[in-house]
Parts: sequence; C-alpha cells; structure tokens
Amino acid sequence: MADPYILKAHATHVIIMTNQLQSLIKLTRALGEPRLDYVIVGEGNTSLRLDEASFLVKASGHQMRDIGEGGFVALRIKPMLALLDDPPATLSEEKAITQAAVIGESVGPSPSVEASFHAMLLHECGVRYIGHTHPTAINQILCSEFAADFAFQRRFPDEAVVCGPRSALVPYADPGLPLALAIREKARKYMAAYGEAPKLILLENHGMIALGETPAEILNITAMAVKAARIFLGALMTGAPTRLPEEEVWHVYRRPDEIYRRKLFVDGEG
Ligand SMILES: [Zn+2]
Repeated sequence: MADPYILKAHATHVIIMTNQLQSLIKLTRALGEPRLDYVIVGEGNTSLRLDEASFLVKASGHQMRDIGEGGFVALRIKPMLALLDDPPATLSEEKAITQAAVIGESVGPSPSVEASFHAMLLHECGVRYIGHTHPTAINQILCSEFAADFAFQRRFPDEAVVCGPRSALVPYADPGLPLALAIREKARKYMAAYGEAPKLILLENHGMIALGETPAEILNITAMAVKAARIFLGALMTGAPTRLPEEEVWHVYRRPDEIYRRKLFVDGEG
C-alpha cells in the first residue's frame, strides 16, 4: 500500500503545480489581450520556473489570448542548458533533445522554439517569470537605427524605476539556439556590469523580453516599455528627443521610496 505521507506530499505538489500553471495562463492571456497590440496570431511566449530543476513554457502553435492548460509544457532545465553549452549540429537533433527534456507525456504538445532562451534566462538571471512579446510600438523602434538609443537611455523616471536603468540589447539572431546564445552573451555582460539581472531585454528586429518575480512585474515592465516606446516615437517626430541624465537615472532607480514603490508594483498592489 502507498505511504499516506508520500501521497499527501504528492497531492500538495500537484496543487502547487496547478496554481502555478493557472497564474501563468492568466499572465499569458493578459499579455495576449488584442487591444494591447503586444502580439497577434501565434506570436510571443511565457515561462515560469517551478523549482531549481524544471519550468513551464508555452507550447508552439498556441495563441496567447485564449491559451489554456494544454498550451504549456513542463521541461527539465538541465538538458536545455546543455543544448546551449554544446549545440547539436542539426535542427532535428535540437528538437529531439528538447522533446526528451519534456516532463510527463512523451506525445504531448511541442515546446516553443524559444524554450532554450527561457531555460537559460530563468537559470542565469534567477527570475521566476518571463514574458516575451512583439509589441508594435517597441518593434517600430527595434526595426530602426534608433534601437540602441532607446535601449541605453531613459527619458522619464518611471521608465527607469520599472524597466531598470537601461535595457540589454541583443543583435538580430535566428530564433532558437542562435538567439538563445546571443541573449546569454548580453545578459551575462549586463550582470557583470551592474551586479543584477536586466528587467528588460530588447531583441533587434524581433521584440522584447520582460523578466520578473511575479506576473504583475512582467505586465508592468511590458506596459511601461510600450509607453516609453510611444513617448520616444513621439519625441522623434519633434526631431530631437531628450533624455534623463545618467546620474538622474541611477538616483531615481536607487531612491529608497522608489524601491518601496517598486516592491508594491511587483506584489501587484501598486
Ligand atoms: Zn519572438
């Protein structure tokens, strides 16, 4: 007969996993809301770190706006990290390794082609949630020669408070392993320079990645980045956008009252 303590521990684990999946579904649908213009058709994906060894990521071929439980796959982190350290020679090999990392049913939905960068960022940056979208306002800039200007400068205080003092900017790379490797390089450089993970990663000619501890933080970073993009685009129409001086950006980012406000936003109360 099964040990009742083990059964109880298993049941608790299932409840926690179900709650986490529900929070990821809610976040993904919120990011996929059509009026926000963050994604259309099958664009974008989200993930959530379950524990040190595993994570949930969106499956390919699902729309964010109406995604359900069947739209996510649980994967082991370790084999996904190994993919980046020792890239296989062919795409079919990469797919086979990714499929073998799936926890549970062997014939389920296929993980997103971008699952490798989710595993890498959840692991390297130590965050719990990731939201990757292709907002029109953001891509208007990332598909222009102003991408670096937008990524490395801040124009108003709440942009610095919510999105961080600057963003990491990744040159265009083929979605899949080449993109995951390019993101890893820039994320590591950012962490070495500033001693913390970026909150916002911008991908040239592609889209944005928000990194956070809670679904509220992912939604706030994405919304504030889109607002900043609209402001920048509007300022460009005047011919000469201005920016916050570097010392002001860091001052506002580190002010104790702003740190307190940021914590409330992250908890979803601000
Ligand atoms: Zn994408």
